[in-house]
Amino acid sequence: MGDTDTAFVQLRIHGRLYPPSGPVKIRVPKGRVYPSDMVPAAGELADIVVSAAVDQVTAEGKKISCRAGCGACCRQLVPLAEPEVYHLRGVVEQMAAERRAEIMRRFSEVQEQLQAAGMLDRLLQSREMGSRERHELGLRYFQLGIACPFLENESCSIYSVRPVECREYLVTSPPEHCGNSSAETVDCVRLEARVSQIIGRLADADRAAGPRWVPLILAMRRSASDEVRQRPRLGHVMLEQLVRGVAGAGK
Ligand code: SF4
Repeated sequence: MGDTDTAFVQLRIHGRLYPPSGPVKIRVPKGRVYPSDMVPAAGELADIVVSAAVDQVTAEGKKISCRAGCGACCRQLVPLAEPEVYHLRGVVEQMAAERRAEIMRRFSEVQEQLQAAGMLDRLLQSREMGSRERHELGLRYFQLGIACPFLENESCSIYSVRPVECREYLVTSPPEHCGNSSAETVDCVRLEARVSQIIGRLADADRAAGPRWVPLILAMRRSASDEVRQRPRLGHVMLEQLVRGVAGAGK
């Protein structure tokens, strides 16, 4: 990250301030930057929202089942908003050459599996897909049991920079249910706001339609539509938009 300013953020969620210990420092890129440059800040906001949700379910007497070494959810279709796609490409580009080649090999292998399963073409057109079709496609995808290219020994190999979408996924149901393709048996923790969706609006501010999304497993695949690049905007303005989106989501 280049030059940054510091913002102090504390969110009111479920009538309480989070983090309860006081405002957290969030680094905000200075000047005009791309929405993808805001993904780290969005991840920190998501962590605050998730901690509030964990407090809430704990108060209800439930426990989070997610543990290191359980990668069942990493075989799901993970939808990424465009800023997350560009950010993830940056994460891979910064890897050492050998490591990057291995990760790219895994992405190619997954695409071959999807092609063989007859799902690749549909997934390549997923940008404008509605939530219902995405859900149906997600169930079909999960049945294929394809692991995320970043999953190693059932743990996320890019944990500290994993997508916001992944940070937001927590369950209270028994872990073995996550390996079952019937989503009805999985109790996902409900979040007051989905920062992973709000960040999509940073890139789609000019569009009447909802945010576009790309499956994580196709995030490294560049296409002609990538020419619709992100528009640079002031970092602190985008942070305000993210914070307002979180504050407005619970109302
Ligand atoms: S990026 Fe990490 S947390 Fe997200 S699906 Fe892949 S392995 Fe799992």
